[in-house]
Amino acid sequence: MLTRALDVVLLGPPGAGKGTQAKRIAAAFEVLHLSTGDLLRDEVARGSDMGKASEAFMKRGELVPDELVGKMLFARLHSQSAAAGCTYDGYPRNTEQAILLDGLLAELNRRVDVALYLNVPDADLLARLAGRRSCAACGAVFHVVTTPPKVEGVCDACGAALVQRPDDEEGVIRERLRVYHAQTAPLLKFYADRGALREVDGVGTLDEVFGRVREAMRSKRR
Ligand code: AMP
Repeated sequence: MLTRALDVVLLGPPGAGKGTQAKRIAAAFEVLHLSTGDLLRDEVARGSDMGKASEAFMKRGELVPDELVGKMLFARLHSQSAAAGCTYDGYPRNTEQAILLDGLLAELNRRVDVALYLNVPDADLLARLAGRRSCAACGAVFHVVTTPPKVEGVCDACGAALVQRPDDEEGVIRERLRVYHAQTAPLLKFYADRGALREVDGVGTLDEVFGRVREAMRSKRR
C-alpha cells in the first residue's frame, strides 16, 4: 500500500530533548532523523567549506546564516533517505527558515504534518545541558546524572570516548537560550495558527516523554 510521507518538526529550547525524541520518532515511524546541528558539527569535524563558514557562529551560540543551513537541508530533503518523511530536529530556527521548509516540502507535495513543542522550563535546561555528554563517534547522548554511561566517559553503544559539546559551556548556553526566545519561540504561534502545533510536557523520563509524544501524534499516524 502506498503511504504518504510524514514530516514532523520538533520545537523547544536547547536541552528540551528534541534530539532524543526525534531519534525515537524516526525509529518508530520509519522516517529520517534530520538534525541540522549534527550535520553542521559533522561539517566542522570534516573541515569542509561549510564547516569553516559555520564554526564561529556555533561557538558563540548564534545561528548559522539561513542560506548555508538551507543548502544543507535542500540536499538532504532530496535524498532517497528522506522520501518517507523526516523528523526535523533543530530546524526551523526562525520564521524565514520555516517559510523555506514549507516551500521545499510543497515542491515534494508534502507539508509539515505536526510541530511538536517539547515544553521544559528554562531552569531545568541549564542543568540538562551542562551535564550532557555525547559520543563523537556514533552520536549517542548521555547525561552525567540522569542517564550516565556504564563506564564514566565511555560510550555504551560503541566504546568511543564521550565529549562535552563546546557550545554546552555555561556562557554559550545562556546565549543559545536568548537566541531561542528571540528567534525560535515565535514559531510556536506560526504553527499554532495553522493548527499543526501539539504541546508536550518535556519534563520526565525519556519513556514518559515519548509516551506523551506518541499520544500527541495519534491523529497523525500514517
Ligand atoms: P543544535 O545541535 O540544534 O543545538 O545546534 C547547535 C548549533 O548549530 C546552534 O547553536 C547553531 O549555531 C547551529 N544550528 C543548528 N541548526 C541551525 C539552524 N537551523 N539554523 C542556524 N543555525 C543552526
